[in-house]
Amino acid sequence: MAQTASRRYSVVAAAKKGVVNGSNGYSNGYSNGYKAPASDEIFGEDTFSIDVMRQKLPKDVFNAVMATIELGKAIDPKIADIVAVAMKDWAVEKGATHFTHWFQPLTGSTAEKHDSFITPNSGGGAIARFSGKELIQGEPDASSFPSGGIRATFEARGYTAWDVTSPAFIMKNPRGATLCIPTAFASWTGEALDHKTPLLRSMESLNKQALRALELFGVKNVSKVYSTVGAEQEYFLIDEEFAYNRPDLLLAGRTLIGAKPPRGQELEDHYFGSIPDRVLAYMTDVEEQLYRLGVPIKTRHNEVAPAQYEIAPIFENTNIAADHQQLTMQVLRTTARKYGLFCILHEKPFAGVNGSGKHVNWSMSSNTGINLLEPGDTPHDNMQFLFFCAAVIRAVDKHQDLLRLSIATAANDHRLGANEAPPAIISIFLGDQLEKIFVQLEKGKPKKGETKDLLGLGTPVLPPLPLHAGDRNRTSPFAFTGNKFEFRAVGSSQSISFPLVVLNTIAAQAIDELSTEIEKLLKQKKTFEEALQTVLQNVVKEHKRIIFGGDGYSDAWKAEAKKRGLYMKNTSLEAYGAFHDKKNVALFSKYEVFNEREWMAREEIMLDQYFKTINIEGETTASLAQRVVLPAAIRYLRELTATAESSKVAGIKSSGVEKTTKDVNELVDSLRSALDKLVAVNADEGGKDLHSKCKHMYGKVIPAMSKVREFSDELEKVIPDDVWHLPTYQEMLFVK
Ligand code: ADP
Ligand code: MG
Repeated sequence: MAQTASRRYSVVAAAKKGVVNGSNGYSNGYSNGYKAPASDEIFGEDTFSIDVMRQKLPKDVFNAVMATIELGKAIDPKIADIVAVAMKDWAVEKGATHFTHWFQPLTGSTAEKHDSFITPNSGGGAIARFSGKELIQGEPDASSFPSGGIRATFEARGYTAWDVTSPAFIMKNPRGATLCIPTAFASWTGEALDHKTPLLRSMESLNKQALRALELFGVKNVSKVYSTVGAEQEYFLIDEEFAYNRPDLLLAGRTLIGAKPPRGQELEDHYFGSIPDRVLAYMTDVEEQLYRLGVPIKTRHNEVAPAQYEIAPIFENTNIAADHQQLTMQVLRTTARKYGLFCILHEKPFAGVNGSGKHVNWSMSSNTGINLLEPGDTPHDNMQFLFFCAAVIRAVDKHQDLLRLSIATAANDHRLGANEAPPAIISIFLGDQLEKIFVQLEKGKPKKGETKDLLGLGTPVLPPLPLHAGDRNRTSPFAFTGNKFEFRAVGSSQSISFPLVVLNTIAAQAIDELSTEIEKLLKQKKTFEEALQTVLQNVVKEHKRIIFGGDGYSDAWKAEAKKRGLYMKNTSLEAYGAFHDKKNVALFSKYEVFNEREWMAREEIMLDQYFKTINIEGETTASLAQRVVLPAAIRYLRELTATAESSKVAGIKSSGVEKTTKDVNELVDSLRSALDKLVAVNADEGGKDLHSKCKHMYGKVIPAMSKVREFSDELEKVIPDDVWHLPTYQEMLFVK
């Protein structure tokens, strides 16, 4: 059993890799002599930023580009030619040999196809060239990207279009560099095949409605409103040696079997603990690369589960934040190797310890720097704040189903509602004071001594709302945290774009509706204060059921939520039903974010991913049981029966051996029959259409996998260490 010895050896070897500059002979990719560059000096140096453009472009060209970035003006192809040349020269200086249109297909990750700058010339040599046409539009062979039926295979072409608002950047590799141009990806008929296009459209809708509302408030000089986002990313790091010996981690992104170690996260000593050397070196490297790419990373720390960490940036314009979030995930993954580590972004890589999520912090900001969700210190600012806050409350209540849908993936099902992540029921946490204010608003005149008179009712200002800690509710899926909302139910591996498309669009609609209401009342000769008060009161009356400040993990909340008539769908499969609600189709088409075909295509893609994810898990579980667990158990059984046999010959009564043999034999029987069952359900796809396939996965494959896991984990606990050759939870989670 050569495997056995090597497993033991690799555990020690992995542990040694964590010693910086140790004498173990490993090249860690880091050393004590390294001095990190100043982050402010390198920040954005690999981006074709506004500053770089100001330097490199003729003034009129620069102004034209800025008009596109700031006001959304279409770019003139002649100007694109000039920008392209400047961009190429800049990129070549930085070592780039190729360029790519970088886009976000509906797989949830990013895609790139590289083209060299090289063009042969007539003299037998070559020159580096890059034209405006190549900058503005690309035509990847797109037939293999999911389109949800939008693009028939005979019309495989799609095109990518330059997103001028997100800076081009340079991705380095050990042998060179590539100029990456953020692009949108659409079919030739103009339908969005990506995540960026609807995101930009939703931002435009929000812009339009928020500007209209600000005008009602008499706010001057604002020409643009955009949503802002800061996404906190959780992830796991384990030694790569273990990962490469775990087919489940490699193929499914999570462990499909694995017995809980005697210790998990009970001691809670990892959270915010000191960061292990190797991990810190890795994080520093990741941050350095992200700084160069202009991603404003701000915080790093240990998370709750052993081997779990978090990285978070400073918030940015949503479109850029979404691009940067993708880059963050990419750099986290690729840098791990350099340190002998393996980065796991999956929502639930290890059963029994916390999974990973992404807290998406969201607000709205004007181009003049007003945060629309920031309570101010004048009555006017407060009215404005309450208006936008009320709009969000209305939006979330009206479209709980869409928010739930936007985070529905097979992987996130392991997290939501599992007392470690937000419940699958959407509700809003406002914090004590703000909740009280809304309650008062509904009643009309507040009692003396309470939050006193708001708005036209007397007191000029809101009580100061706590910005930090104390007033936190970790169990809420959607929490107001002082000057932004935090959507906490987003999965760690998913693109943040779809949840943001939903948020922007539902906010746009609510702002639209509330503004219309105010306008109507103004026409009826109400004062602005009266009109606003009526509108806010109506929001509270109509939507207060969504506000919940208690413990979201409790069973009492489930009962209460049911009483309140909140949308409750525990599984993704149920949540996908929201695709067919007429209100949703109408919403997205009215605000020009998705037409009906685009919307229904999303359903097909999400279902397809759900089906494939579980299908792969089912096959991988079966293969592990068949090729790893069962053989190990049988080897052990052979040892046991041989011992029992020889004991008998020697005349020794060995009840311990007999009992162990019997137990192991029973477990082998159970595993075998669970495996047979799994193989049988795997062989069947459950039907022809995606819906029945997904139902089959949920109803048949998942339970069959759980059964296999149950007996496999039982066996893992009794099989001798030297016969078990898969890395264990203990090794993966505690060797750092
Ligand atoms: P926490 O205590 O949850 O870590 P922080 O104040 O550190 O809270 O913020 C978490 C995230 O929220 C950061 O990424 C931060 O940039 C982001 N954030 C702060 N203000 C805003 C805003 N106005 N819009 C969007 N995100 C914001
Ligand atoms: Mg947070």
